[in-house]
Amino acid sequence: MFADVIVDIQHEKLDKIFQYRIPEEMEGRLEPGMEVLVPFGKGNRLLKGYVTGISETCGYDLSRVKDIADIPEKGMEIETRLISLAAWMKEHYGGTMIQALKTVLPVRQKENARVKKRLRLLLDEETGKRQLHYYLEKNQKARARLMAALLDDHLLEYELVTKKLNITMPVIRALEEQGVLALETEQVFRTPVRQTPREEGHITYTEEQRRIIDRFRADYENGRRETYLIHGVTGSGKTEVYMEMIRTVVEAGRQAIVLIPEIALTYQTVMRFYRRFGDRVSIMNSRLSAGERYDQMMRARAGEVDVMIGPRSALFTPFPDLGLVVIDEEHEPTYKSEQTPRYHARETAIQRARAEGASVVLGSATPSMEAMYRARRGDYVLFEMKNRSRMQEMAQVYTVDMREELRNGNRSIISGKLRDLMDDRLRKKEQMMLFLNRRGYAGFLSCRECGHVIKCPHCSVSLSVHRDGKMRCHYCGYEQPKATVCPECGSRYIGEFRAGTQQIEDIVKELFPRAEVLRMDMDTTRQKDSHEKILSAFANEEADILVGTQMIVKGHDFPNVTLVGVLAADMSLYTGDYRSGERTFQLLTQAVGRAGRGEKPGEAVIQTYDPSHYAVETAAAQDYEAFYAEEIRYRELMGYPPAEHLLAVLVSGEEEALLEKGCGYLKAYIARVTGTAAGRAQTATGARTEVIGPASPGIDKIKDVYHRVIYIKAPDYGFLVKVKDRVEQYIRINPGFDRMRIQFDFDPM
Ligand code: ADP
Ligand code: ZN
Ligand code: ZN
Repeated sequence: MFADVIVDIQHEKLDKIFQYRIPEEMEGRLEPGMEVLVPFGKGNRLLKGYVTGISETCGYDLSRVKDIADIPEKGMEIETRLISLAAWMKEHYGGTMIQALKTVLPVRQKENARVKKRLRLLLDEETGKRQLHYYLEKNQKARARLMAALLDDHLLEYELVTKKLNITMPVIRALEEQGVLALETEQVFRTPVRQTPREEGHITYTEEQRRIIDRFRADYENGRRETYLIHGVTGSGKTEVYMEMIRTVVEAGRQAIVLIPEIALTYQTVMRFYRRFGDRVSIMNSRLSAGERYDQMMRARAGEVDVMIGPRSALFTPFPDLGLVVIDEEHEPTYKSEQTPRYHARETAIQRARAEGASVVLGSATPSMEAMYRARRGDYVLFEMKNRSRMQEMAQVYTVDMREELRNGNRSIISGKLRDLMDDRLRKKEQMMLFLNRRGYAGFLSCRECGHVIKCPHCSVSLSVHRDGKMRCHYCGYEQPKATVCPECGSRYIGEFRAGTQQIEDIVKELFPRAEVLRMDMDTTRQKDSHEKILSAFANEEADILVGTQMIVKGHDFPNVTLVGVLAADMSLYTGDYRSGERTFQLLTQAVGRAGRGEKPGEAVIQTYDPSHYAVETAAAQDYEAFYAEEIRYRELMGYPPAEHLLAVLVSGEEEALLEKGCGYLKAYIARVTGTAAGRAQTATGARTEVIGPASPGIDKIKDVYHRVIYIKAPDYGFLVKVKDRVEQYIRINPGFDRMRIQFDFDPM
């Protein structure tokens, strides 16, 4: 037997894995992650290394392979645990061990110290409050917001102020000139903000919060480690619950990781954690340099930090004694990596927690189908929070049938109802957001008269229109000519839904010439910081209407927004994949939740050609249960996750002919190993398995690289892992595949 060993876990050197022979007396004792001593180089210097894999074959000249020298007697080091997690990820998601190691191990990079800026309040509390009052009186909203933040925390990180509080440089300069604050420059400091915990005014937990907190503490103290799913509407107090759970774990001397999608990691959230846990909290975000991130990882490893907050990659924080992983907004697609290994943070967190004796808490207002399915099955402990902690009302929602608008002669993209409400808001000087749901937009064909959408007869997803005038299924490759009349009602009003944010901005300006309109989409946010500038202007109430894509529905609180219009709910319903209903429900729920975050009650208008679609209907009714019931039926019927599992084999390359040929061979091979040569079939184990494709995944050629995908559907995840292993073997030994790139995506999102 042979062991793969890395001798240095410095990132740049990870590309070298060495093979060593396992001496007989060590056989059966080695596992991925374990520390070993190996002879290295000409002088056979003994070096510390880690095992990353075990195999029966050796890829080198046997006479030159050395023996492992020793296994040091030691407890489990954190590196050991992370490497064993990497081995699990490689197995579970595909790819190489090096790719997995690079994902989990901290990156070390040399770089120059960066200059950082902070804002320091120069006024005393009382003068500061007077100043705040003055700004409020003058309606200088940005200044007031900054002043209020400075009164809360006398020292603020510049980045936090500009990116999360949406304050622009001219505002900071103005306050500097008025002697309100000093802009300080400082060489790299290691903690983003230094704070001491400050007790907030004592909080009385609601009944719902109490129940969860008590159950968690009891479990924790009795040594029970579970995965919990908190299904709680926005504002129901989930974050308070997380913080209390973290306190339980931290007081027991262990550490916690909190995953929050970057876009939802707002200034307010960050500050809440700082106030509670002081400088034992560290925040990770993509704006940190690699060196700063590494610094934070090392502080965590050294025990200087108890709580790490950050996006997906923060899951790999090398804490010495991890006690809890919280995943907020658990349903967000950003928790799935788009690079090999294409891991999902939820499953990976659960795996890490199991190995290290930690608990996992998932939270969402709209739990993913996966999480709810498992919770219902009893794999997770399920908690419901149905009430808002501060008793704000949910927004009033109206659904407008756009087919009827057409029948009544309104061809505009804005319905009569929405126009009336917009008019009302402009008069009241309240703000509104218009949301164009363009996520994963795939050019589906729909009938304006009856709402019918053309779908794949085999896969029950919408067909996508391609430039060559054909419509194709992105799963199985089924194609048909582009329809010119509606197959349902015969209408010729059938076409692609083409509306852009630019066009909407123009229409709105024409309808309401006196309104100030801001637009936020890919075009207007291409420049650095433009994202922040737009949000800042809107937060300062410099505009009445914000038009945008899904970028605008997340994370930001605008208390003066009392109307949200969803212009075409249908656009995300027909993205040609099985998750489109779920994504639509989530987006609509979020969009509706944007209205009325402040004191004033909100209203929302959902425009659609398909008002009876269950995703639209249940989102408008804010009824998650009803949505789940319908959606799981569809997934079960069609064999889509979470009812069954789906493995996408993504094949890409520059030579189209070779790619086609390769896919043909691959599909035949997969059909053979899965026992599905005749299409859908029973395998030896009696399980239903299906091989679908090859098809073009959305766009079939990007920058001269062609893409194809083959799907394998099976009830058992483990079975798909075996298929992946066989395919990896197959492409290694067969010529031609080295000129293609093959990646695996389990339960793709
Ligand atoms: P969620 O994370 O579910 O959206 P939060 O924890 O952010 O909810 O709570 C929403 C708001 O309500 C926050 O401002 C929070 O401080 C406040 N809050 C939460 N729980 C309570 C409580 N028991 N009493 C008073 N205010 C609360
Ligand atoms: Zn029709
Ligand atoms: Zn199909």
